[in-house]
Amino acid sequence: MRKYQINNNRTPMPVQDHHERIHNFDEVAQGYTEEMAIAEANRCIQCKTRPCVKGCPVEVPIPEFIKLITERNFEGAIDKIKEKNVLPAICGRVCPQESQCEVVCTLGKIKGSKPVAIGRLERFVADWEQRVKGIGEFDEGACVDLSGNPKVAVIGAGPAGLTCAGELAKMEYDVTIFEAFHKTGGVLVYGIPEFRLPKEIVRKEIDNLRECGVKIRMNSVIGQLFDLKDLEEQGFQAFFIAVGAGLPIFLKVPGIELNGVLSANEYLTRVNLMKAYRKDYDTMVDEGDTIAVLGGGNVTMDSARTALRLGAKKVIVVYRRSEAEIPARREEYEHAVEEGVEFHFLRNPTKIIGDGKGFVKEMEVIKMRLGEPDASGRRRPIEIPGSEYTMPVDLVIMAIGTRANPLLTQNTAGLQLNKWGYIEVNKQMQTSIPNVFAGGDIVTGSATVISAMGAGKDAARAIHKYMQEKLSPSE
Ligand SMILES: Cc1cc2nc3c(=O)[nH]c(=O)nc-3n(C[C@H](O)[C@H](O)[C@H](O)COP(=O)(O)OP(=O)(O)OC[C@H]3O[C@@H](n4cnc5c(N)ncnc54)[C@H](O)[C@@H]3O)c2cc1C
Ligand code: SF4
Repeated sequence: MRKYQINNNRTPMPVQDHHERIHNFDEVAQGYTEEMAIAEANRCIQCKTRPCVKGCPVEVPIPEFIKLITERNFEGAIDKIKEKNVLPAICGRVCPQESQCEVVCTLGKIKGSKPVAIGRLERFVADWEQRVKGIGEFDEGACVDLSGNPKVAVIGAGPAGLTCAGELAKMEYDVTIFEAFHKTGGVLVYGIPEFRLPKEIVRKEIDNLRECGVKIRMNSVIGQLFDLKDLEEQGFQAFFIAVGAGLPIFLKVPGIELNGVLSANEYLTRVNLMKAYRKDYDTMVDEGDTIAVLGGGNVTMDSARTALRLGAKKVIVVYRRSEAEIPARREEYEHAVEEGVEFHFLRNPTKIIGDGKGFVKEMEVIKMRLGEPDASGRRRPIEIPGSEYTMPVDLVIMAIGTRANPLLTQNTAGLQLNKWGYIEVNKQMQTSIPNVFAGGDIVTGSATVISAMGAGKDAARAIHKYMQEKLSPSE
């Protein structure tokens, strides 16, 4: 039996130098080498209680895949992960491991030690597979053909829809994803920037799903092009709605109608999906010398860091709480600070002021203090009367949250929604319409990639159960 010694030294992730990276959209975190991955995997003490597995929303067998890395069996490690997670290269990059599997890691509980870098190891083996096994161009001819089997439609090709479709294909359903955009991936392609999640990685993981038999129809806005009844007439027997929560919220202050005020959603979509960051594309995107980004989450960090890369001289994040309450992933916040994004904490905009010609010129903000915790458990920000001042800005990006995407939900008769417009489901992810299931951000509100994937997986199981009962009803 191997004896494990505690090694406190977490293997650092190589990153692109911050002086260089603010001038390009290449990936910031560059991934472990084989030797780094083995060194980090050797830190895992293979604890019997396996708290890390319980911390993972899709229950990846973490100690097992890490052990296989220590044995240099990278193929075994990726196969082990894929038993539970169909998008490992994506999750290894963007999952908030620090608040899921890593926060409960035994090593992290030891004074002076940090948890095993589980996410970095997951990314390493997923990248190893793509690099070494040479997963190349998508080969239509190599796809499993599930035509003729019971048909299920998935609406939305974000992480929830993709996972559900992948699981249903494994169970041999003839599954088609209908996606509104011309690209699949949802927020993974239109929200999260290239420097955090290269689109090529997303494409390859989606190609894997297509090769397993998942069909995808792009440019298909369900609720407009077809509704669920039309799809039922086309032979689909069950549905999974995973349309996300992409409707931006705007702060209700005077001046939001000015040119130069826009949602993070629009800004990031233009840059990512419509490739405004590439010189060979003509996509228009608002640029400015001094840019204010409102909010404190991942979307805020992504917008601020994108603005820097597009050439802004000064990017200021304005957040109404303090640094301790920032909801963004710690690593993304630290990268933003390193890159030169300024943070103005305990500030809230009260007015956006124009230049008299319809363009943004200044923003008035008020200072805040923190009161007692609110329903979210975070201390409530309270205005300090009379503390207003103005700051010069020429672009204001609102990254203060999103709401339910209403296109499909409002056009589906009998679909029960809660007061915020999110779909109501029971424990089996079933909506008020028996053959319609739902999950991901359209049920929970804006959350995480892995929680959307977990919902997709649960829904696939529930749809399978529903279909079995429907296809062979008990007497
Ligand atoms: C900028 C940004 C950064 C983020 N960073 C992180 C991060 O680092 N880590 C993390 O875990 N989470 C992050 N998140 C959150 C995470 O991406 C989401 O929680 C997750 O993508 C939700 O998945 P989903 O499948 O429910 O919805 P989405 O990813 O929103 O996908 C929904 C899909 O449905 C499509 N659709 C919508 N309406 C229709 C219709 N009527 N017909 C057909 N298709 C339709 C949309 O085009 C989209 O492709 C971030 C979010 C944003 C916006
Ligand atoms: S909790 Fe940490 S040390 Fe224990 S098995 Fe999981 S990764 Fe390894």
